[in-house]
Amino acid sequence: MKTILVIDDSPTIRASVEFAVKPIGMEVKQAENGKKGLEAFSSLNSSGAELGLVIVDVNMPEMDGITFIKEFRKSDKFTPVLVLTTESEEDKIKEGKCVGASGWMIKPFKPADLVAVVEKLVR
Ligand SMILES: [Mg+2]
Repeated sequence: MKTILVIDDSPTIRASVEFAVKPIGMEVKQAENGKKGLEAFSSLNSSGAELGLVIVDVNMPEMDGITFIKEFRKSDKFTPVLVLTTESEEDKIKEGKCVGASGWMIKPFKPADLVAVVEKLVR
């Protein structure tokens, strides 16, 4: 079973991602900002979990999504990273691509659209 790491400061978003991907057999680990996300990543690594995808918000306290991706890519070059963004953050999409994001999704999203993207990205 693959694990998806969901990093967003909104508990509602984290819960809706978890709710959407559970039925397709994904394990979900949640974190509330980039810093907590990096901590969750290293504990997943040491527990031997198979990380299939990271889903990360852009705007978060402590550490934003772009900084998270930069840090994450120092130790993991291959796990896909999906950026969750809002309509007004289009420049962030470009920035995200530059630092190693694999794709993005505009919030609010339909669960079925998220599932389609997850199934495409998780190998
Ligand atoms: Mg946010």
